[in-house]
Amino acid sequence: MGTLVVKDGRVLRPDGSIDRADVRIDRTAGRIDAIGADLFGDDHLDASGGLVVPGLVNAHTHVAMTLLRGVADDKPLQAWLEEDIWPLEAHLTPSAVRAGTELGLVEMIRSGTTAFADMYFHMPEVVAAVEKSGLRARLGYGSITVGKDADAARQECRDGLAFAREYDGAADGRIRTAFMPHSLTTVGEQFLREFVPEARAADLPVHLHANENREEVAPIVEEHGQRPLAYAADCGLLDADDFLAHAVHLADGEIDLLAERGTGVVHCPASNMKLASGMAPVQRLLDAGVPVALGTDGAASNNDLDVFGEMRDAALVGKLAADDASAVDAQSAVEMATAGGADVLGFESGRIEAGANADLAVLDLDAPHLTPQHDLVSHLVYAARGSDVRHTVCDGQVLMADREVQTLDADAVRERAISEATALLDRAA
Ligand SMILES: [Zn+2]
Repeated sequence: MGTLVVKDGRVLRPDGSIDRADVRIDRTAGRIDAIGADLFGDDHLDASGGLVVPGLVNAHTHVAMTLLRGVADDKPLQAWLEEDIWPLEAHLTPSAVRAGTELGLVEMIRSGTTAFADMYFHMPEVVAAVEKSGLRARLGYGSITVGKDADAARQECRDGLAFAREYDGAADGRIRTAFMPHSLTTVGEQFLREFVPEARAADLPVHLHANENREEVAPIVEEHGQRPLAYAADCGLLDADDFLAHAVHLADGEIDLLAERGTGVVHCPASNMKLASGMAPVQRLLDAGVPVALGTDGAASNNDLDVFGEMRDAALVGKLAADDASAVDAQSAVEMATAGGADVLGFESGRIEAGANADLAVLDLDAPHLTPQHDLVSHLVYAARGSDVRHTVCDGQVLMADREVQTLDADAVRERAISEATALLDRAA
């Protein structure tokens, strides 16, 4: 395997500074082993004229929802789920999930994302796709108990735990898993109380949707007499390894609780805006010391998986939410999409430094929309897009070189996704 040198680029360092350097990767270890001038290795990847950045982290998505991209837009969350998304998802097959996942993985590789968290169904198919693609992921089966009898509900949670136990550490450790009860309203209290301790015993983190919109918060307050996150903590949730998607509607006490526990939040600004869920208090979370990552959520509520868009949206909506143009600055947005995301998912990635996982992307800087180059951190957030990425590397393996995906056949993946999406809509009709 030997070494790979990412040569002649400018390199974004963890402190936000940028300098000209080569990055040498120990491919056997999958780690960065040196950063400096004129490094030599067994192979080279040309980064001249480019910017080397940590691979982006998409910390909350449902990848196979790429098949549902554009089928139902411009509706509020509950109606969108009940009238459109859930009826379609009921017709998903393993091969549909495989095809939709591979489409999403190609999209992520092509936009410089190297790690993601996925909550969905038919998860062994997602494992197989991730293994082949070369990406890094935290995966879980989205357990839902609402509308099921006690036996079926229990089986849902057992299936989620069994998946997480079986596949943790798969793909040479690139795949980690989590117990993923869908949300505090779609999984009943008795099942949280029964199965969260089992996840703890298996050393698994827990990932769920929480405090996404007002309609989701109100019934919890009504039924349990406390705010959702106090209720979650009461049910054994909110450990330091756990992470919540959305966390839009938070009382002050809930922000303090997250900070005390060290529980991560995955901010999904595009999904929150598109479903009119609300504006998450991101600057307040950052100020309180809550670990914050970024996520696209599924492609049906975004409608793409490009984390560059998420950085821009996070910075823009963060200013509106704080009523302060200095809130969620460019450096904060980059940190949430790189080191912050990696930390929330429990990966030693997100930083170009010796010893870190060799997960990185190289951006072309010669496009008109990236000219002139007064401030490249600003460009990453406010001007760059996924299509500016030239190379993507994960775990020391080149996943895309000169915009050609190396690990999946992008054209065949697209063809299969089109046919599976068509068949899925036919079945549902
Ligand atoms: Zn979601």
